[in-house]
Amino acid sequence: MTCEEAQRSMHYHFDGDDHLHVRKARAHAASCTDCGRHVMDLEMVEQGLRSLQKFAAPPGLRDRILEAVREVPQKRPLRGTGGLMTREQ
Ligand SMILES: [Zn+2]
Repeated sequence: MTCEEAQRSMHYHFDGDDHLHVRKARAHAASCTDCGRHVMDLEMVEQGLRSLQKFAAPPGLRDRILEAVREVPQKRPLRGTGGLMTREQ
C-alpha cells in the first residue's frame, strides 16, 4: 500500500466505515511517519468539526426566529429613559 492509497483510505474511517482498506491504512500509518501525521491531522479536523456541530444552529432555526420576531408587536423606547424601558404601542 502506498502512502497515497493509505491516506485516501483513511478518509473512510472518518465516515464510520470500518473497511478492509481502512484497517490496511491504519497498519500502514502505524509504521509510516508521514501517514501517522496525516492521521493526526484528520483527527484534529474531525474534533474541530464535532465541536462546531455542538454549537451549530439546527437547520431552519434562523428562519423560525426571524418569523417569530416579525410577529412580536413593535415596542418603542419611553422618552427620557435612554431607551431602557419600553411600552407597547
Ligand atoms: Zn505512508
